[in-house]
Amino acid sequence: MKLYRVTDEGRTLYLSPEPVTADDFPPSSVFDEVQLEVPVVDGVIHYWDGGGGKSYPHIHYLCPRCTKVQNTDLYPDDPNPRFAICDACAWDSLVWIRWKH
Ligand SMILES: [Zn+2]
Repeated sequence: MKLYRVTDEGRTLYLSPEPVTADDFPPSSVFDEVQLEVPVVDGVIHYWDGGGGKSYPHIHYLCPRCTKVQNTDLYPDDPNPRFAICDACAWDSLVWIRWKH
């Protein structure tokens, strides 16, 4: 798929399926588009205790690169599948998470 990429001195700062806003990045950033394979993985929603009776949904999924369970916040407007990166692998592991309750 096509992804919008932002790099700075060869280092990836950001990758997104949505166009990015140049103002959000340092002036030395380079913007381009790349074609990358992004695997689809299954995710399950867990509610994390936020204290005070509040709970927050997180999607738990297995990162195909580091093979560890990772998680990402789920916001009310998030699409399904949701685009995400691994906390451990960062931009080296992009996924579409097909989530369910
Ligand atoms: Zn990973």
